[in-house]
Amino acid sequence: MTMDLRELYQDVILDHNRRPRNKGRVDEPTHHADGYNPLCGDMISLTLHIDQNRISAIAFDGQGCAISTASASLMTEAVKGKTVAEAQSIFGEFQSMVTETAAPLEHPDLGDLEVLAGVREYPVRIKCAILPWHALKAALAGGSGQVTTE
Ligand code: ZN
Repeated sequence: MTMDLRELYQDVILDHNRRPRNKGRVDEPTHHADGYNPLCGDMISLTLHIDQNRISAIAFDGQGCAISTASASLMTEAVKGKTVAEAQSIFGEFQSMVTETAAPLEHPDLGDLEVLAGVREYPVRIKCAILPWHALKAALAGGSGQVTTE
């Protein structure tokens, strides 16, 4: 791990990597998608249970680096209990946070997810951070195939 990368591994990221929240599979998923980031080798399998347009349960499984695991863990916490529209809005906000190159905007809705803002300095890591979100987007769209970051 280089010095530059170490700055990325803040406490919240380390904590979510060590003790991922919502790890596993939900019972009787109504939506699912798999994601793969060939650049890093991150793989994620996302399952959701959506009741009346609300995400009542969400879980992820798979193998990945600390950034992708922490991002997936934080994502499940952020969208659990939210409506599909709210989750899509959080996706948009997260995507703009990690990809915007201009002066960082305020993202008050993102909460703990803001710890991942640092990845925008590291293009390779952006794909790790965004992977679970692409899987979420695919799952919400009703797809069940595999998405990749490439
Ligand atoms: Zn990765």
